[in-house]
Amino acid sequence: MANSDPNCLFCKIVSGDIPADIVYRNEHVLAFRDINPAAPQHLLIIPLKHIASLNDLVGDEDTIIAGQIMQAAKVVAKEAGIGESGYRLVFNTGPDSLQSVFHIHGHLIGGERMGWPPF
Ligand code: 5GP
Ligand code: ZN
Repeated sequence: MANSDPNCLFCKIVSGDIPADIVYRNEHVLAFRDINPAAPQHLLIIPLKHIASLNDLVGDEDTIIAGQIMQAAKVVAKEAGIGESGYRLVFNTGPDSLQSVFHIHGHLIGGERMGWPPF
């Protein structure tokens, strides 16, 4: 499968064709501010490679990518000042979750006390 989907919004953010408030980038992942934040800190962490959702993770390469997202979340949370106060990393997947962008992304949210369960 191609690493990029020309019709994907987040692939266009990776390529720079659509602007975003990017806070972190390495050779594997990109993190940027959600355009419609649900919390004082709301960042999206995505792989540079196009993968539609958690359900589309396949094989060892994608397993490594999933880990790279989590490793990046730790760094991004620290840089956003919520590494110690706490945060959630949420991967909406499929219709019941209301996933709306089909390029896998972790919502890194924090900066305030949250409720649980979240619905
Ligand atoms: P989902 O609903 O798929 O889990 O999350 C998609 C997220 O992407 C939403 O929180 C939405 O606000 C965010 N989003 C949608 N379009 C854009 C955009 O063009 N730029 C940025 N930065 N975030 C976006
Ligand atoms: Zn994509």
